[in-house]
Parts: sequence; structure tokens; C-alpha cells
Amino acid sequence: MPFTLQGRLAWPHGEICTVGIQGSTITSIVPGGDEAAGALWITPGFVDAHGHPPLLGDQLASVDLSGAASYAQALRTIHDANVPSGWLLGGGWDQHRWPDAPQGGWPLADDLERVAKGRPALLHRVDRHAVWASRTALASAGITRDTPDPPAGHIVRDTNGHPTGVLVDRAAELLSAPPPDDTERERRLRAALASLASHGLTGVHEMAADDATWRIYRRMDDAGELPIRVWVWVLEGTEAAESLMRDGPYRGKRLAGRGIKAFADGALGSHGALLAEPYLDDASARGLCLATAEALEKLARSCLQSSLQLAVHAIGDGAVGNTLDAFEAALRTHGRAPASPLRIEHAQILGEGDALRMARLGAVASMQPVHATSDMPWVERVIGPERVRRAYAWRTLVDAGVSLALGSDFPIESPSPARGVWAAVTRAAWGGEPGVGWHPEQRLTLAEAVAGFTTGAAWAAGEAPGTCAVRVGAVANLSVWRAEGDPTAPRLEPQMTIVGGERV
Ligand SMILES: [Zn+2]
Repeated sequence: MPFTLQGRLAWPHGEICTVGIQGSTITSIVPGGDEAAGALWITPGFVDAHGHPPLLGDQLASVDLSGAASYAQALRTIHDANVPSGWLLGGGWDQHRWPDAPQGGWPLADDLERVAKGRPALLHRVDRHAVWASRTALASAGITRDTPDPPAGHIVRDTNGHPTGVLVDRAAELLSAPPPDDTERERRLRAALASLASHGLTGVHEMAADDATWRIYRRMDDAGELPIRVWVWVLEGTEAAESLMRDGPYRGKRLAGRGIKAFADGALGSHGALLAEPYLDDASARGLCLATAEALEKLARSCLQSSLQLAVHAIGDGAVGNTLDAFEAALRTHGRAPASPLRIEHAQILGEGDALRMARLGAVASMQPVHATSDMPWVERVIGPERVRRAYAWRTLVDAGVSLALGSDFPIESPSPARGVWAAVTRAAWGGEPGVGWHPEQRLTLAEAVAGFTTGAAWAAGEAPGTCAVRVGAVANLSVWRAEGDPTAPRLEPQMTIVGGERV
């Protein structure tokens, strides 16, 4: 069925247009439309350039009790949870917050059994040092009055010695839910992709697929069941990585196999990011080197030969430096421009001169604006005022000529690109007033932020950025937004997501 959309095509004050869509294609763009369309923007389809749909699916399939301020509320949350059949999993409970906790302080297996309606249920305590299990779950592991406490573990019991439902520390290891089978994994993945579409995303760069995930994407795409576009980087060492190395990039309907994901270091918050100089708050620590420059160079060479894109997780300036050394050496051996760009994922702290070097090598910086606003309360304490000027340095990179691809790293952060755009243009926490943000000199303009989620994401996946244009004859991959507030730093609300002419 052909349909039309109305809204502005350019930021912030483009003229109102009516866009006609027929089949998968934009067939007309005519100036004019009704008054209400003035608050709507029609943009190229937004793409999250770094996310983890399987992990988002796991999160959506579990119960979150972190908001439960009473035992009654926790039980109600579990009872009302709209999670699928099979084991009921989740966590976040804290019995110290419950004025109505049962006698003895701990939650009870019998209560959980009742609200889980007979399904085996297993819920982690907020600190993950204890689990609350239902009767069915306890029975599945054969945990009874006769089960002894394991060393360094404790089974909470009643006065007769019967387990009452909580297993503390090593006792929690007596019980685990069976890993999800492919049917359940696919169901979760489907829920995750639907959730991304509801945030206004027409596509995602899947940044660490294992063999099972790759297999499920392939099956869904062959059956025409992917709601949005998925560009996949598979984990190094998987069978999927071997087959891409052998056959080159994969192109399906909405699915593309683009390359290999590797890790140069860990994360900043746990002192895992590899720094060139020690951490400010721990002079003995420089972080973790998960791959040397030599190892990365070898991998980069293989990827270049197979026309694949290597995407390297590098957060600290030490890891970014190693990765750029590897890219430079591999490109020299390769002797010509790569078929599509090499990528650095996160690139949170740059060394002096790294931005220009990245530009020279044509490497893409794949960054997550929301990381900056989540980390801003503590980063300076960890790396100090000098390095912080080179952290989350979007402006430095854009000015050096580096192509930025923006994303969220969900489910660590919300997948909402509206939050990403907000963080990029304000460097302030979501929802507040866009006053002077954290190190505002590194802010992006609205046009640059939108480009990061559209043309920048396309380039970073080996697509021609021109394919994103909203023009007659182009494939209709579009996001429609309602924009509130300051037109240069709007709060966006997704209104419609269109993939290949289909409203998803
Ligand atoms: Zn990630």
C-alpha cells in the first residue's frame, strides 16, 4: 500500500514536505503539508553503529526487581512480568529495602512459586552474591534438607533444616538455569530488534556475534523475518569468523556480515582500559593489554585480504595507539586503500596526534555519546585533567577529518538514539536543560550528530553514504521524529520507523 509522510527534511527549520512511498521506494517529495507536520522531522533511517541485540534480548526476557521497595511490590512485579515461557530469570532485589520482608529477612521459595505460576524461577540479589529460587527450581537441582552447605556457601533454612529459597555465595552455584536453546535465543533476538525499531532505529551494527547468533540472523534473514537491517561483526576465533575470512563479506536481504570484532583492552570503570601512563588513582595500574599491536596487525592483514572490516575495541590511549600502529603496518603491507574502512570501537581516550593519524589511515571512530555523560562524574578522578581533554573527543576527531559513527553500546546504555543525539550536542545528562555541558568544547552540532547515526554509520559499514539520502528513487529507510525544545538541541521522540518502505 502506498502511503505518505509529512515533516521537515532538514534541520532545524527545513521546509515541510510530503514524502510518498510506494513499495520499497521513495516515489515523490512535494513541498507542503499540514501545520501539524511542522513539529516532525523525517530523517534518513537512524542506525546504532555499536550494539548487542542478543544481550538486549536477555535483558528484556528477565525481571528487574531493582525498583522494588517492598516484598509485596517485588512479588507483584514478578507476577505481572511479561516474560516468556521457560525459566523466569532476573534480579536486582535487596531484602534490606523491604519493610515487609518475611521473618528471618529473606524472601521465600513458596511465595516465588506462587507468583511464578509454577515456572522454575531464579532471581539474583542486587550484589549477585545470593539467589532466590522457587520450589520448582530447587527441586530441579535436587536441593533438599539433606543437601549440605558447600564450602564458602550457605543454604538459608527453616528451623527443621528445609531450604526456604535463598542460596548464598557458593551455594548459589548449586543451581543454574539451562542455557537458552536456539528457539529461545531467536525469540529474545526478535524482541530486541522490535525494541530497537520502537526507538526509531532502522538498523544496527551487531558488534560481537557468536556462532549461534550468526546462525539465527542468517535463518531469520533467509525467511524475510528481520524487522530492521543488521550489519554483523563476528567474534574472533568463531566458525563464523573463519567462514567470512574464507568467503569474504556476506550480503543477504537485511543482513550483512561485515567483519571481525577484536579487543585491544578492557573498560575504563574497572581500570581495564590500557593507558599509556598509569591511572591517576592507582599509580601501579595501566590497564589490560588484550591484544598486542603485532597480533592486531596480523588480524588486520587477514581482514584486508578478505575485504572484511576489522573492528577493534580500544578505550585507553595505550590501546588506541596499539591499534593505530597495527592498522598502519597492515595497510602498508596491503599496499592499497581498503575495500571498506577499519574501525576503532569506543576510542574513548586518544593520544596526542591520534586524531590526525586516524584521519590519515581512513579509520572510522565508532563512538557512543552517552558513555561520556554516564562517565562524566568520575572520569577526571581516574585519568586526571590533562588526559580528560583527549577523552570522548568528538570535536577533535571531526575537525581532524575522521569519520564518526555513533551508537550506544546497548544494553550497557539505552539504545535510544534520541539520547545519543542529546548527549552529543549537549554533553549533559538526558532530560535536563542544555546548559554548559561537561567539556563543552567537544560537543557536536546537531547536523554532525545526526550524520553520525546515518551517513557516518553507513560509511562505517562499508555502504555508500549517498544511499542514506532522502530523495526520489532511493530506498525508503526513514526515521520520523517529533522534536521538542531548543531546535539546536532537541529532545527527539520516535514517531515511525520505516525499513525498505515497510512501517516496522
Ligand atoms: Zn560493546
